[in-house]
Amino acid sequence: MDDYDLLVVGSANADLVIDVERRPAAGETVLGGDLAVHPGGKGANQAVAAARLGARTALLARVGEDGHGRLLLDSLRAAGVDTAGVLAGGAPTGVALITVDPSGDNSIVVSPGANGRLTPGDVRDSAALVGASRVVSAQLEIPLETVVEVVRNLAPDSRFVLNPSPPRPLPAEVLAACDPLIVNEHEARVILGADRTGGEPEDWARLLLAEGPRSVVVTLGGEGALVCDGSGAVRVPSVKVAAVDTTGAGDAFTAALAWKLGAGADLPAAAAYAARVGAAAVTRRGAQESYPTAAEVEAL
Ligand code: ATP
Repeated sequence: MDDYDLLVVGSANADLVIDVERRPAAGETVLGGDLAVHPGGKGANQAVAAARLGARTALLARVGEDGHGRLLLDSLRAAGVDTAGVLAGGAPTGVALITVDPSGDNSIVVSPGANGRLTPGDVRDSAALVGASRVVSAQLEIPLETVVEVVRNLAPDSRFVLNPSPPRPLPAEVLAACDPLIVNEHEARVILGADRTGGEPEDWARLLLAEGPRSVVVTLGGEGALVCDGSGAVRVPSVKVAAVDTTGAGDAFTAALAWKLGAGADLPAAAAYAARVGAAAVTRRGAQESYPTAAEVEAL
């Protein structure tokens, strides 16, 4: 079961970005700068982040039979991700249409496209891939029933890591498999309900743990992270860096944490490494383009 250090099951999107002076109001047309097309999607981001660190990584995803799909496959392969599990067809490749104003605020429309067509049947067809991975990670930019099927196909001694983004309430079967469940404050609020996320992150991490996961990690941006399991809650400090762009930092953090857990690190040590990877990622613009190699993490 050890062919891959990490299998990521998730989304692959083309991010289409235009800088504008002002984001358009309803019925309005504005002119913007040149279109930039970036490979993205939380699944592809995690896979690229892990592979760049040196993890033997595979991605189970679905793209369209179109130019955006080819762009994504190229970027995954360039990073060293095994793309045998990237299925093609069924709908156009997922796209995020992003306009960014001079203050950095953005408006985003996502068309899930082929991501929405990654089915439980696709997971069953790829059961050998799921069973061949030491750690399996997922997010929620694919259908929830597909994530449920992933959990049902895990090898007995493999580990499941979930970043429930975009957040929605989770079935008990999925929560019970998470080791860890990785959330930011917004995701914690959706899963727990806003009335239960007062107080400190330690408080909601404990509440989340009581929902069933074996462990919980709360990401806190520039404040680092918090890990919580049956033995208590521990803060993981961030590394002080000059942040340029936090896009995709959470995906880099999750990928690094999943890889280190599979390599035998305990949760606080894996989170400390992941915090270094997240910090390195915020020092450069973009998502996948910002992800560090292991040597760059060491040098930080
Ligand atoms: P995303 O919005 O990308 O999904 P997220 O909200 O899940 O991200 P963040 O908390 O923004 O995740 O970032 C993940 C990790 O990256 C943090 O826990 C932290 O370790 C590191 N990190 C993020 N921002 C900074 C920063 N400004 N300085 C240092 N480290 C950072």
